[in-house]
Amino acid sequence: MAARRRLIAGNWKMNGLKMDGLALARDLAVRAAAGAPNCDLLVCPPATLVAAIGGALAGSVIALGGQDCAAAEKGAFTGDISAEMLRDAGCTHVILGHSERRHGHGETDAEIRAKIGGAWRAGLVAILCVGETRAEREAGRAPAVVSGQLAGSMPEGADAARLVIAYEPFWAIGTGLTPTLADIAGIHRAIRGEIPFGTRILYGGSVNPKNAAEILGLDEVDGALVGGASLKAEDFWAIAEACG
Ligand code: PEP
Repeated sequence: MAARRRLIAGNWKMNGLKMDGLALARDLAVRAAAGAPNCDLLVCPPATLVAAIGGALAGSVIALGGQDCAAAEKGAFTGDISAEMLRDAGCTHVILGHSERRHGHGETDAEIRAKIGGAWRAGLVAILCVGETRAEREAGRAPAVVSGQLAGSMPEGADAARLVIAYEPFWAIGTGLTPTLADIAGIHRAIRGEIPFGTRILYGGSVNPKNAAEILGLDEVDGALVGGASLKAEDFWAIAEACG
């Protein structure tokens, strides 16, 4: 069993209007009040819902996070949201470098590193996502790709209190596919050698109530970043309860 306390984080992505998000958050808050599972809990709603969800979760053990932030604190950056704004809205965490941003928005390691700097400046914990594409995996390059992303996007001065790593193979996100348990453990071990002591490493990519126990049962895995299954309170809760 890993010594690090596990973290189950829900990435709601671009899903949910106010009514859906509030219903989901309230359902989770009721479950948490009835008995929190053996892990830390975090939900990352779309930016438009962060403040409202924060209100619905007030007083619960469930933390609140953003899905992205700008590197700059403020200024002429139309459409962007700063880490300070997330913090002001009640966030303690922010996901950065998600593969949907690396690949869908062309975000570079250098940009992600700068965003992590912004997150730390505002006092947020940065969840840095890394992971290979299918082609990179098939070419046997997954460890090298992940190592390169870590080297390029993790700022100097990182420490376990301000950083969480999420290993998310791009090809496993939203596809129902997952790496073998041995592959997950192997990449997590490789990541462990490149990050500050005590930093949590989450696995992400098609985690669901059926596969959660075996993935979270790996000593190398300190929790999960959950996309699709985080949109149903019952499923998210079942994953959290799989922490034992
Ligand atoms: C994610 O978006 O971070 C993710 C892991 O998605 P899913 O669980 O749907 O694969």
